[in-house]
Amino acid sequence: MFEGFEVLRNAPMREYTTLRLGGPADWLAFPRNRGEIDALIREAGSAGMPVTVIGHGSNLLVLDGGIRGLVIRVEKNMREIRIEGNRLTAEAGAMLISAAQAAAAAGLSGLEFAGGIPGTVGGGVTMNAGAYGGEIAQVIAWAECLRQDGTVIRLDREALGLGYRHSAVMDQGLIVTEAAFDLIPGKEEEIRLTMAELNARRAEKQPLDLPSAGSTFKRPEGAFAAALIDQCGLKGYSVGGARVSEKHAGFLINTGDSSEDFLTLMRQVQRIVAERAGILLEPEIRIVGEENA
Ligand SMILES: Cc1cc2nc3c(=O)[nH]c(=O)nc-3n(C[C@H](O)[C@H](O)[C@H](O)COP(=O)(O)OP(=O)(O)OC[C@H]3O[C@@H](n4cnc5c(N)ncnc54)[C@H](O)[C@@H]3O)c2cc1C
Repeated sequence: MFEGFEVLRNAPMREYTTLRLGGPADWLAFPRNRGEIDALIREAGSAGMPVTVIGHGSNLLVLDGGIRGLVIRVEKNMREIRIEGNRLTAEAGAMLISAAQAAAAAGLSGLEFAGGIPGTVGGGVTMNAGAYGGEIAQVIAWAECLRQDGTVIRLDREALGLGYRHSAVMDQGLIVTEAAFDLIPGKEEEIRLTMAELNARRAEKQPLDLPSAGSTFKRPEGAFAAALIDQCGLKGYSVGGARVSEKHAGFLINTGDSSEDFLTLMRQVQRIVAERAGILLEPEIRIVGEENA
């Protein structure tokens, strides 16, 4: 199967997620271009295999039973970034951090907010990633996407339907292959300074030295997930190796090897916050795979 493609069989997903959790993917592919993604989907389709598309795995909880079928990781082999005038175009596998740095080097402002988000452009568009008042929706011009039937569409900002950690890419099961961002000229030094300041704030507030998928829950209307979790006295609360970070209560971290523990911790935090604060926290992280190892 998958002759001529870069693929792994029974690939442990803990090696491909920042949470360092997850059982094996039956097949894990690293496509080099849009044509390969299309061909991989067709081959999986003919074999009756389900397909899951991921980026860097920085917003993912893969369950202990792993992922059946084919996982397509749009990441290390699709990282080209081009700049023409005020427009930066990147393949979906380029890291947001690299895109932000390339923009800075070209004296283009607008992607500073993304300079510390450890995911890909494809994952960033899908999630409408954002931080410190910026988000993908503010700068994106278009995203080129592949439909499961192999047709290619280019969605402009409006058609992408970007909302808080939400997009049409998710709703329609599209695969982002490339995206373009409209930026504005700025001074390289100032852009780099802003990025350095934001990264310093991140390092001060977030447990960047421990495996996590960033903020586990979305920000509920009129409140902050981290503050609610903290007010419920849950900092440091743990289930096995999964723990609410003492540094930032919005980050659930993993120091063990069980997705089940992590999921149980998530559910317990949700239950306790709902009982004590009357607010149901909704996961921001995407949960994929099968529960039983
Ligand atoms: C330490 C840390 C800090 C973080 N800080 C932030 C932050 O400040 N702001 C923020 O928004 N997020 C943050 N995150 C979360 C995460 O980095 C972002 O959501 C990021 O955009 C996810 O990109 P990814 O490539 O890792 O996607 P993945 O985690 O691999 O996938 C996320 C979702 O996108 C889908 N997807 C990925 N690539 C594609 C593609 N090419 N086409 C279609 N669908 C795709 C997947 O199916 C999945 O549903 C943080 C994470 C960590 C670990």
